[in-house]
Amino acid sequence: MSVLEKISSSALIALEDRYGAHNYHPLPVVLSKGEGVYVWDVEGKKYYDFLSAYSAVNQGHCHPRIIDALVNQAKTLTLTSRAFYNDQLGPYEEFLTKYFGFDKVLPMNTGAEAVETALKLCRKWAYEVKGIDEQQAQIIVCEGNFHGRTTTIISFSNDENARKNFGPYTAGFIKIAYDDLDALEKALASSKNIAGFLVEPIQGEAGVYVPSEGYLAKAKALCEKHNVLFIADEVQTGIARTGKLLAVNHENVQPDVLILGKAISGGVYPVSAVLANDNIMHVIKPGQHGSTFGGNPIAAAVAVAALQVVTDEKLAQNAEYLGQIFRNKIGEYIQNSNIATLVRGKGLLNAIVINDSEDSSTAWDICMALRDNGLLAKPTHGNIIRFAPPLVMNEEQLLDCVSIIIKTLKQFER
Ligand code: PMP
Repeated sequence: MSVLEKISSSALIALEDRYGAHNYHPLPVVLSKGEGVYVWDVEGKKYYDFLSAYSAVNQGHCHPRIIDALVNQAKTLTLTSRAFYNDQLGPYEEFLTKYFGFDKVLPMNTGAEAVETALKLCRKWAYEVKGIDEQQAQIIVCEGNFHGRTTTIISFSNDENARKNFGPYTAGFIKIAYDDLDALEKALASSKNIAGFLVEPIQGEAGVYVPSEGYLAKAKALCEKHNVLFIADEVQTGIARTGKLLAVNHENVQPDVLILGKAISGGVYPVSAVLANDNIMHVIKPGQHGSTFGGNPIAAAVAVAALQVVTDEKLAQNAEYLGQIFRNKIGEYIQNSNIATLVRGKGLLNAIVINDSEDSSTAWDICMALRDNGLLAKPTHGNIIRFAPPLVMNEEQLLDCVSIIIKTLKQFER
């Protein structure tokens, strides 16, 4: 079969099924074009994208300013490795660190790599600055966490699917309940070997769990008291998604270590970053950590353009405004619904809990019906559907989407 032939959705799905590893279970829709809040399938049907590639495409599909930056840089210089300097990296590092208020950045590519980088940075700081004995450092993590797919990260997951038969697991992590300050205080006091606390400001993959108000600020204060690094994984919540530039900004928290990915490039290119101040970042010396692609010229140019779009188009303010409308409208509907029990979230990172058991197919069936009605969303953890459209959406589009969602849920009322 020539790759130039127009291939149908079903044939394309069959190809992935035949030749690709079965490590995903996608909704059966094959996309071939995206623009702003919309995507089109290969048969030409148009949809609202309500996942944004797990909050990577915050700036909308194929944003012209970001694509221009990508194309121009791609024609000029793509990759040098860090064996040499390149003319894009320094300006990007200055821009990024000033944008988020840190002394330094360590550039990587994917979210999981950035989390790994943060864990290594935290351990090294613990041995060389805090003075923990070699091999003894412990990092506190939360139940229900999702930080990526590497062997170390899945070692402290409590999702059996993510973990089972991938051992032996990496040691050095203490798991506590999420949104539980007593558990955190107890864990911090339990040993002098605690190096860091790694937390998602809202647990995205787990089902958009928003912690109690004050949790992040108090957790940060407890970490300070115990000289433990507060490490915020904002790979999913960052870059305006929750109605502020960072989700920690809702509580005026400046993490010791900040992990970013996904929307730092508008979903155009794999770009991730770990930010910290000099007193922490100085522990990393030449040869101790790196990546061939981390900090490459395309990544640098794309990320600067993507972050400028976030500011210029006031995406955080838009997410905050539209998120309120979304939760109000869906919340109103839910009061008299027997198919949906709850809507929760912040900004445009929201979820609806479906009134059925976690192992039921109802949420999946609803997502199939949403697809048929022109809106793409995906269940996360059984009976929860996440709703995370691009942040360039306008109010009229959002109201249109709310009516599609309510109309679809009504098809499932019992
Ligand atoms: N951290 C969080 C909070 C995430 O949501 C994700 C991805 N869903 C990751 C890390 C991993 O990012 P990546 O898939 O780019 O490795």
